[in-house]
Amino acid sequence: MDTPIIALADRMKLIKPSPTLAVNAKAKAMKAAGADILNFSVGEPDFDTPDHVCAAGKQAIDDRFTRYTAVPGIPELREAIVKRFAEDKGWHYTPEQVQVCCGGKHGLYNMAQALFGPGDEVLIPTPYWVSYPPIIQLAGATPVLVPLSEESDFDLNPDVLRKYATSKTKGIILNSPSNPTGSIFSEKALKAVAEMALAGNWVVISDDIYDTIVYDDGPLPHILNIEPKLKDQTIILNGVSKSFAMTGWRIGYSLGPQHIIASMNKIQSQSTSNPSSVAQKAALAAVSGPQDFPLKMKESFLPRRDFIIQELTSIDGVTCVVPGGAFYVFPNLSKYYSKSFEGKQLKDSLGMSEYLLEKSFLATVPGVAFGADEFVRFSFAASMEEIKEGMTRLKKALSELS
Ligand SMILES: *Cc1c(COP(=O)(O)O)cnc(C)c1O
Repeated sequence: MDTPIIALADRMKLIKPSPTLAVNAKAKAMKAAGADILNFSVGEPDFDTPDHVCAAGKQAIDDRFTRYTAVPGIPELREAIVKRFAEDKGWHYTPEQVQVCCGGKHGLYNMAQALFGPGDEVLIPTPYWVSYPPIIQLAGATPVLVPLSEESDFDLNPDVLRKYATSKTKGIILNSPSNPTGSIFSEKALKAVAEMALAGNWVVISDDIYDTIVYDDGPLPHILNIEPKLKDQTIILNGVSKSFAMTGWRIGYSLGPQHIIASMNKIQSQSTSNPSSVAQKAALAAVSGPQDFPLKMKESFLPRRDFIIQELTSIDGVTCVVPGGAFYVFPNLSKYYSKSFEGKQLKDSLGMSEYLLEKSFLATVPGVAFGADEFVRFSFAASMEEIKEGMTRLKKALSELS
């Protein structure tokens, strides 16, 4: 290929194309060509945004609430978030300690730009959400991957964490319930993280986007409840994408120490300005209105989780940790990687995902995208019929390998 006239910025060398794209692009092309694709690769609820939230969005348009807003979001939305957090969690923030942004991912991006730079190391429990390492790298910092093991239900092991912490450690990203594993960090693990964070002056980034989709009874263990002293060095990332089925509206929010939020506002003011005015009004209806929608959603996911777990663990050689929250399962399919179909060995999670797509029209996300090649992610935000059909196809596909 000829060298193009315009060279790209050096930072583009840091970012690899997502390994999920190959499977995704193929799934789309197959579907367009009429194939009966069952899509278990989606990372969003299979619910519509609730009516009262949509109505608030429509009303905002009719009211011509269509101009720039304050950079960190409209005051009434930030106040509603403050109130919701005080009521639901007992955490007290001021509106100046809240930034509304263009989705949870954007909150993470603003945070990383404000806090991390060359020489900083950020601990990332692995399997991780796909966007954590690149966002840390785009800030010039170094992601340090801390392995979690399937045997301990993907809980954080403090002894392992200690091995990866150095004098350069500036922060840690927690995501509990986790995407892709659905695992919830134990009180014991979080207590150990809290001790290390206090001793090392780490910033704790808590991505709580799945905190309304929790299947176990009792409160979700949270580092801020375990160690309230950490409030001055913790950023909470959340949003309405998952809890109110609002992925396309692009509203996330972050809460944390005022000087950090103020810096994130500076970044936001020079990049995206305010998040969409209309979407903010819709998010206001979600945050300040009735909270039964996330509860209903969770109740509808539970039988689907139980069914898919029962099916997966009944397959010879397959293990799968029961997710405590979110809507993903992360089965270990690596026993099948040494097997072949029509003389071609699967080899890895990408090979497995490609095989399931080509052979059985099942779209999944290979574990390598989350830094864990033994696994493949299935979303169970699909109908029970689709899950049943999908598991039948999976069993057949695996049994036809030799
Ligand atoms: C979906 C998700 C988010 C937020 O996504 P947005 O669409 O940007 O709001 C953040 N963290 C994790 C782990 C997620 O799965």
